[in-house]
Amino acid sequence: MNQVQHVLLGAVLLSDYSPSQRIPDPGVRLTRHWSEQTGNIGRMLHPVMEKVGVSFDKLKVVILTHQDVDHIGSLPEILKECGNDVKVYAHELDKPYIKEEIPLIKDGHLENPPKGKVDETLIDGQELPFCGRLRVIHTPGHTPGHISLYLRQSKTLIAGDSMYSVDGILGGIHVPTTLDMNAARLSLKKYVDLDIASVVCYHGGLSNVNVNDQIVGLSQGL
Ligand SMILES: [Zn+2]
Repeated sequence: MNQVQHVLLGAVLLSDYSPSQRIPDPGVRLTRHWSEQTGNIGRMLHPVMEKVGVSFDKLKVVILTHQDVDHIGSLPEILKECGNDVKVYAHELDKPYIKEEIPLIKDGHLENPPKGKVDETLIDGQELPFCGRLRVIHTPGHTPGHISLYLRQSKTLIAGDSMYSVDGILGGIHVPTTLDMNAARLSLKKYVDLDIASVVCYHGGLSNVNVNDQIVGLSQGL
């Protein structure tokens, strides 16, 4: 989990727009985007979005998987730039930490913790109307309000920090950063019933080979 992985893999940008579509002015169709920003990559989001042909003002939605500072650190920066146009989603149990109403569980020592907003709280099983429907999966353990996201169309699981991976191989629960191992085990078992083609771990990146088998194997070892 070196810093490079943090920087490159801590954010995921999703778009309703398919680049394969021939659209004269893609900007018009780019209705919603989702991104989670890590603490130090605010400056990287602009060039990445430019590269895929999306201007920064098209960012409409931020879904936070959890409260850790490397996942909410750039939220104030985004809000400053985009104002209230950006809607922020998170689970109820991590909301007060994200809003800085109470100190962050793991990063409570920070002198100036990032202060964000949460417009809407999410619950387990909720469907969001983005990117062909996103399913919210409450996956506590790493933090109480950790959520994962399942994209039906592409069979992609955004696992956040509920699992880590190394070179495309899922490593399972990252014990040193997990607050409640029992909860984390139960959370991982929630993935067994999903038809998953790809998993994005925020520490480790993309896994897309025999993912269902890997998850079953991990869950059996718990
Ligand atoms: Zn984390």
